[in-house]
Amino acid sequence: MEDIEIAQKNVLEPIEKIATKIGLTAAEIEPYGHDKAKLPLEALAKLNQNPAGKLVLVTSINPTPAGEGKSTVLVGLADALRQRQQRAVIALREPSLGPVMGMKGGATGGGYAQVVPMADINLHFTGDMHALTATVNTLAALIDNHIHQGNALNIDPKRIIWKRALDINDRALREIVIGLGKPANGEMRSDGFDITVASEMMAVLCLATSLTDLKKRISEILIGYTYDREPIYVKDLKVEGALTVLLKDAIKPNLVQTLEHTPAIIHGGPFANIAHGCNSILATEAAIHAGDYAITEAGFGADLGAEKFLDIVTPKLSKAPDVIVVVATIRALKYNGGQALADLKDESVSALEHGYENLHRHLQNMQRYGIPVVVSINHFASDTDQELAVLQDLISQEGLASAITDVHEKGGRGGLALADLVMAAAEDETPDYERLYADDETVTIKIRTIAQKIYGAADIELTSQAKQQLRQINKHGWNNLPICIAKTQYSFSDQPKLLGAPTGFTLTIRELIPKLGAGFIVAMAGSVLTMPGLPKHPAAEKIDIDADGKISGLF
Ligand code: ADP
Repeated sequence: MEDIEIAQKNVLEPIEKIATKIGLTAAEIEPYGHDKAKLPLEALAKLNQNPAGKLVLVTSINPTPAGEGKSTVLVGLADALRQRQQRAVIALREPSLGPVMGMKGGATGGGYAQVVPMADINLHFTGDMHALTATVNTLAALIDNHIHQGNALNIDPKRIIWKRALDINDRALREIVIGLGKPANGEMRSDGFDITVASEMMAVLCLATSLTDLKKRISEILIGYTYDREPIYVKDLKVEGALTVLLKDAIKPNLVQTLEHTPAIIHGGPFANIAHGCNSILATEAAIHAGDYAITEAGFGADLGAEKFLDIVTPKLSKAPDVIVVVATIRALKYNGGQALADLKDESVSALEHGYENLHRHLQNMQRYGIPVVVSINHFASDTDQELAVLQDLISQEGLASAITDVHEKGGRGGLALADLVMAAAEDETPDYERLYADDETVTIKIRTIAQKIYGAADIELTSQAKQQLRQINKHGWNNLPICIAKTQYSFSDQPKLLGAPTGFTLTIRELIPKLGAGFIVAMAGSVLTMPGLPKHPAAEKIDIDADGKISGLF
């Protein structure tokens, strides 16, 4: 059965009932229809008075292009913990429309482990993504208007770094020319669009801890430089108040449920390859204080999302994760072991054994942070008993516990073994969380530390453009910020085809972009793009709606 059919057959509980499961009354939430609600900031303040539960971070090995089931396992794990009488609450990212219409599909889990209403969450949801897009583009329009109206700030149109945004994969908008035509149409300049989830505005929303903090972060966004190369910030345009107003509802996390009626707080959705990859801090804090277990996810492989969760986000949270779950699949390990994408359903113990080096490195990396690690083997129908036995054996040789997880087929029931492992691991009261680098190291050292210790690189290399940007960063004293590396999700390296656990490569940093509102420096590695394109046969070709409004083809 298609994911959307399973979701459509499910009978949802009224959202007010889900709210009571996190200790909020009907009057304390803002319903959006019958099965979605926003959590106002007063409700978050109430939740934050509760004691903190355990925090579980779900991450994974390097994926195949289809995704390896992190969100699916996360949902199934939360449902399984509920079956074990634990009050589990999910904190998850909002899906972007780009991949829904493109290659990967949605981001609401799959099979019998989904958050619902699946179609709404994957499409327009409660409008957060559109509010962000409008905010990004309002700022762009205000910058261009300022130049058109006399340019009192002396902004150099060729040094504007603020880009427009759209939540659609549209390669034609990567580089554009604006202001064509008559003088009344404004200054002609080259510009470009990022996908909304890559925009700094998304990161700012996700890292903000209050409306005041949101406004402060927006005011600090660097938008470009003057003709004298002095930095220009949003506060110089005096529009941080207006931009914050546009996000007054988007700052409130969204409450929905799983197929088994576990509460799920879904909020903010930066990609992990081109942004920091974690849902909002407000959502994670709400989940931490709303039950016994908060289950959250960081995008793509543990080299991207989890590293950023642990080095950028965790220092801003009230607590570090108590347990890390690394999701692995036989098919992705075989892919990393050299098996062709088209043959991943065929048994190959040798490809699995070879590709295991990928999981091995992720497990070593995660253990470096001092937090207990367990492995979820996300079971696919094509996995053979022999492959599963070999994989479990390899993991136990590392001294780590693994559970075969069948939540796609069976819902929470298929995640009970994993839930038991997580509960046992969470009993360790003193996880010794340790960051990978200190913010006061130099930018180069921070990047080299991530590249060598997490990716396995021999060294890093900065292009001349990146070197010049580094000089600016040092000159203006922005060097004490954490690093957010943008790179392919398919490889530890900056080359998508270098699978397994490569060593000896050089990570090339082609650009260093200060994101001063978010509070990190983006280091662009390899040829990763901040506006994706669509594949030859996009998922959009299969999505349809009938006369009764019933949707098909969403996954
Ligand atoms: P990720 O969060 O790692 O990107 P998702 O949880 O979104 O991955 O899953 C990617 C796709 O794979 C979804 O369409 C989901 O339904 C499917 N999927 C996940 N786990 C399984 C499984 N065990 N069997 C079959 N399909 C699965």
